[in-house]
Amino acid sequence: MRPDLLAAARAARGFLPDDEGQALHEAALGVVVDGPWMEIGSYCGKSTVWLGAAAVERGRTVFTVDHHRGSEEMQAGWEHHDASLVDDAGRMDSLPVFRRTIRDAGLEDVVVAVVGRSTTVAEHWTTALAFCFIDGGHAADIAHADYDAWVPFVAEGGTLTIHDVFPDPADGGRPPYELYLRALDDGFVETGATGSLRVLHRA
Ligand code: SAH
Ligand code: MG
Repeated sequence: MRPDLLAAARAARGFLPDDEGQALHEAALGVVVDGPWMEIGSYCGKSTVWLGAAAVERGRTVFTVDHHRGSEEMQAGWEHHDASLVDDAGRMDSLPVFRRTIRDAGLEDVVVAVVGRSTTVAEHWTTALAFCFIDGGHAADIAHADYDAWVPFVAEGGTLTIHDVFPDPADGGRPPYELYLRALDDGFVETGATGSLRVLHRA
């Protein structure tokens, strides 16, 4: 990975340890089918930089969707709240930091941010995806809605990656793990596991 992009990915604010970021980057580099890449859950752009670096190398485009209002656990008073990510109306807003992250990494030509609710974007989306990374809301209804909305777009031979997959309930919430089980049930083949990141391919 280009040293400046590696440094940018490591320095960015977010929820992706280096080994998982590296694995995400490698999964994206290994894409074999045509089509855009899609990330659900941009937050401050950390995973987006890992993906964007691969997109530069592969000549691809990364779309990344987020309403930037934060998931449940990011709201004031919750475990993952960051008080510096609040707008002038007192609402969570990670978009300004996301934009800085992508600008400073020099990735604005390969990263397209879509601001809005993930399922609304999916309703109007029609293009098969070469790569899909699901790292959005973790509430059961939101996570399963993301699966329903986006996984059908993953092309034959395409890659599906899911973050925060914890087989042991003691390590974290159930929904991302349930999405992973659904993918296996839907015929995806697991090709990688690093930390809580799972890499799967549509056969
Ligand atoms: N990938 C990021 C972390 C994403 S955190 C990283 O590498 O650090 C999850 C993000 O999903 C939050 O920014 C939240 O705003 C977003 N989110 C949650 N539910 C959403 C929904 N229904 N539509 C769009 N974005 C959503
Ligand atoms: Mg995550």
